[in-house]
Amino acid sequence: MIKKLSEYKKKRDFSKTTEPKPKTKRKKPKEPIFVIQKHDATRLHYDFRLEIDGTLKSWAVPKGPSMNPQDKRLAIETEDHPLEYAEFEGVIPKGQYGAGPVLIWDYGTYKNLKKDRKGKPIDMSQCYTEERIEVWIEGKKITGGYALIKMADKNWLLIKMKDEHASARKNPVISQPKSAVSGKTLKQISNESKHGNL
Ligand code: MN
Repeated sequence: MIKKLSEYKKKRDFSKTTEPKPKTKRKKPKEPIFVIQKHDATRLHYDFRLEIDGTLKSWAVPKGPSMNPQDKRLAIETEDHPLEYAEFEGVIPKGQYGAGPVLIWDYGTYKNLKKDRKGKPIDMSQCYTEERIEVWIEGKKITGGYALIKMADKNWLLIKMKDEHASARKNPVISQPKSAVSGKTLKQISNESKHGNL
């Protein structure tokens, strides 16, 4: 786990940013977690992260998740993040990698949906290696199946699977913009940081 996070650590100065420094050990939760963090860096995007093999596999989704199975949302793979990162909400300081406010847009647990032809589950790390992930997400804002399919290099597509939660009308990215944890907007998080409240 530590070795996998070397890129994450290399990009950050933990004496300057309040983002979590990876720990060596962590108790494993019963169900794997996911988090979607709204991050206003150079460009606004949504960091979609899934716990796989003790780290958070991460993709930056410029438009955020859709509820419509017709949409194919670009998801650019980024470096693995430590599990503790799922709890990070705050401001990455100027001059640091990814500088800007971050809020926890949605979080919860997920179930792996991918099965082989005989109906036997394929484990998540294998799905990742085979470049096709299918998960059932249980969040505060979004619930249901999502597929991540690798296209080329670091480019994947995040696609809503067809299920009872699919909708061509609902757009929680727009209708529910605030933090699922604190209820704050990115602007509030930014302002509080400037005034030293965080
Ligand atoms: Mn980001």
